[in-house]
Amino acid sequence: MPAELIDGAAVAKEIRAEVAQHAAALHAARDITPGLTVVLVGDDAASAVYVASKEKACKEAGMNGETIRLPHDTPQADLLALIDRLNADPAVHGILVQMPVPKHIDPQAVILRIAPHKDVDGFHPINVGRVWIGEPTGFAPCTPAGVMVLLERAGVTVAGANAVVLGRSTIVGKPMTSLLVNASATVTVCHSKTRDLADVTRRADVLIAAIGKPEFVTADMVKPGAVVIDVGINRVNDASAKRGYRLCGDVAFAQVREVASKITPVPGGVGPMTIAMLLKNTVRAAEQGA
Ligand code: NDP
Repeated sequence: MPAELIDGAAVAKEIRAEVAQHAAALHAARDITPGLTVVLVGDDAASAVYVASKEKACKEAGMNGETIRLPHDTPQADLLALIDRLNADPAVHGILVQMPVPKHIDPQAVILRIAPHKDVDGFHPINVGRVWIGEPTGFAPCTPAGVMVLLERAGVTVAGANAVVLGRSTIVGKPMTSLLVNASATVTVCHSKTRDLADVTRRADVLIAAIGKPEFVTADMVKPGAVVIDVGINRVNDASAKRGYRLCGDVAFAQVREVASKITPVPGGVGPMTIAMLLKNTVRAAEQGA
């Protein structure tokens, strides 16, 4: 029987409705409207699309969503000075500088400048540390946090499960690992130097693919009955598609679906969770008094 689909779009909608309730309650009780400010440096087309959808999602949840657009040649010092102003602004509860920033700007300097209590992207080392030690005020990066919510709402038992994370990036693989460890999974992290990769992935009860390689995970790499979460978003050329390309994940969906028990599609799986979790982190920052 083909695997059950984990519907990320539906879960993201639930989360956004919950966020809207929290935002309304905060407004009623303390006259606070949670506010997210996104800073976009340069005119990268994909980033502009992400940023616009973040602003729209904030407004739909009854939150303030502001985007500050800076020219591509903005000096790093000016960007840092803007972050200082946002850090000090009581109407701003969450700050996100859209990555990637232009090459003349050091992304780590930007991340370090954002006040940890407003770092709703969860990339500041203080938040990385808080999440690792299971400190509840820490902000986890939105994509892996979204994966945890998907697993929970799909009724997947993570405690005691063998979880394999494919990928060790700072934004997905590593935080995914810390969240799974804290949820009591037994976690193995794989990367480009991992030997006998398929032997490792075949041991996974829960397999998280985040490597950025289209349809890399094939059915022979998956244990029958495993839960497969596909974080990948890849564009592949497709002459039959209207735009000349199609989106696919890091998992060969059609064949893996025949082996897994539950699986996320791409699109409509992990993707919609990322913005939902960003809103959730922002409303939490406002509740925590950012
Ligand atoms: P990175 O390129 O930063 O990291 C990729 C990781 O995969 C690295 O750790 C790399 O290993 C590992 N890797 C690459 N090739 C192999 C291989 N052949 N075998 C084993 N491991 C390999 O990617 P990200 O983590 O940023 O993103 C991963 C995917 O998730 C992308 O498709 C991206 O588009 C998507 N994504 C989706 C989001 C969403 O909202 N749904 C948000 C963020 C990302 P090594 O460290 O050794 O180089």
